[in-house]
Amino acid sequence: MSTSTSETTAPTTNNLHTVLLALKRLRRPRPDHILPHLRNPKDPSDFDYLDALATLCAFAGPCDSVSTAVRCSPSLEGNDLYIATSSPPPDPPALQAQLAAWTDLMRTLPVRRRVDSDSDSDVSEDGSESEEPGSPESEEGSGSEEDSESKEGPESEFEDHEYATSTQSFIVEVYRGCHAKLLDIINRDDVGQKVLERVETMPERYIVLYGISRPQLAGYLKCLVALARKKLLTSAEDLLSLYSTAKAVAEFERPLYRLECVSFLRALSDLTLAVDTLVDFATHRKMQDIVQSPWNFIWVHVPGPESARDFVATTNVDELAAIVPSKWRDALTSPTIEWRDFHPTPSGNVQQVEESPGHFTGKGVVHCESALLAYLHANQLYEDKAIQPYIGCSRPVCYACLTLIRAHYWELYTRRIDVGRRSDLEEIDVSWAYPRGMGPAVYKRLVADMVGDFKLLVRNPYKDVFHHIVTDPSGLPEGF
Ligand SMILES: [Zn+2]
Repeated sequence: MSTSTSETTAPTTNNLHTVLLALKRLRRPRPDHILPHLRNPKDPSDFDYLDALATLCAFAGPCDSVSTAVRCSPSLEGNDLYIATSSPPPDPPALQAQLAAWTDLMRTLPVRRRVDSDSDSDVSEDGSESEEPGSPESEEGSGSEEDSESKEGPESEFEDHEYATSTQSFIVEVYRGCHAKLLDIINRDDVGQKVLERVETMPERYIVLYGISRPQLAGYLKCLVALARKKLLTSAEDLLSLYSTAKAVAEFERPLYRLECVSFLRALSDLTLAVDTLVDFATHRKMQDIVQSPWNFIWVHVPGPESARDFVATTNVDELAAIVPSKWRDALTSPTIEWRDFHPTPSGNVQQVEESPGHFTGKGVVHCESALLAYLHANQLYEDKAIQPYIGCSRPVCYACLTLIRAHYWELYTRRIDVGRRSDLEEIDVSWAYPRGMGPAVYKRLVADMVGDFKLLVRNPYKDVFHHIVTDPSGLPEGF
C-alpha cells in the first residue's frame, strides 16, 4: 500500500476509478454479509435462459463475454433478442445464423410437464400450473402413480423417443458451434491432461472426503482429453460424447476445485448448464409463447478501445479521503483495515503512472452489460413492458455493472432490471467505464452508491471469523 503524499505534479484522479480501486484493495471476507445486493440469487429464475443464450454466444464467438436482453411480443413481431458483446466482436452474420439454428431447434422440443417436488419456479402467475402431480389437467395422460415415482425430476418423460431425438439434435447443433472454444480451454497448457494426472495421484483422504470414485472420474477425464485432442469434432457421436463427458466431469466440481483448474471447470459447467437451461426453457409449458415465436437478433454497439477515455485512479489515502464524507475519513487510516497491494499486470488495461507513486492509469472499458443497459436507456426500452426485466450475462456480473443497474433503477425509479450471478469484489475491473448516454444524474448516483458501499465495508467489523478456512482460491495460479 502506498501512503505517500502526492507531489505538486500529481495527475487529476477520477472518483469512480479511485473508489473501484479502493474496493478491490479492501480485504474483507464475505463482503456480501454486509452488502446483501452482492449475494447471488438463490433460486433459478424464469430469465435464466437469457444467461444461457449469452453463454452460447460467448462460446461460439471470439469475445470473452456477451450480454442479452429480450423484448417479447409473441402475437406481433416475435422476440427481439438484443446482444452486446465484448471485444473482439464476433462475426454477427455467422453468430446470427447459429442463433437462428438453435432457436429453430428449440421449437422442435416437445413440451413437458414437470412433476418434480421442488417445482416452485414452474408455478404460473395465475397458479394454473401449480396442480399437484397427477392432477386431471395432465394432458399427456401421465398417471398419478407414474408421477409420484418421478419426484427426482422429469426423466420419465425425458425418455420419450421424440424428446431424446430432438434434444440430441439441439445439443449437437449447439456443440457444433461451441466446441472449438471449449476444446481450446481443455487443451490450453494441457490442462485437461494435468487435471487427469492430479486426479490419479489425488490423496486418498480427498477421495474419502468427497466420496468420489477415482476410476470413474479418471475415465471421464480420459475421454474428455481424447476428444479435445481431436480439436475439430464433426460427427454427431463425438459432439454428443463431448456434451455428456463434459457434464459428467462438471458434476465433480467440488473435489476438482482444489486441483487448480478453475477456468477449465468453469468452461465445462457453464456450457453444460447453458445447454440444459435452454432445453428446460424450450420444453416448459408456460414458455411456449416465447419459444414458438420468431426470433429477431439485434446487435448493440459496445464502444471499443478507439473511443475509450483515459482515467487515473489513486491508492493514496489522502486523495481517497477527499472523496469520502468528512465524518468517516479517520476510518480510512484505522489499523483494522487490511489493504491488498495493487500490482497492474503487464497485459492488463491499467498501468502505474511513471514517477507518480500511488497513481494508476489506463483506458476505460465499457462492459457489455453496461452497454446493453445504456442501449435500453437511450431507446427508452426499459419502460417497455414487453422487455423482460433482466439482463442475461455469460459470466458473473461485476460489481460496477451491478451497481450501475441498481443506480439506474433508484435514480430513475422505473422498472427494476435484474441480473443473475454476481462476481466478487476481487474481480473488480478498475478500468470499468461509465457508458455514454445515461446522463450525469445516474453517474452521480453510481459513484455515491459505490462510496456508500465502501463506507459500510470499512466501518463494519469482520463478521466471518472463519473466513480463513472458507474456500480460498487466492493460492491458485493465474490463468486457471
Ligand atoms: Zn461489468
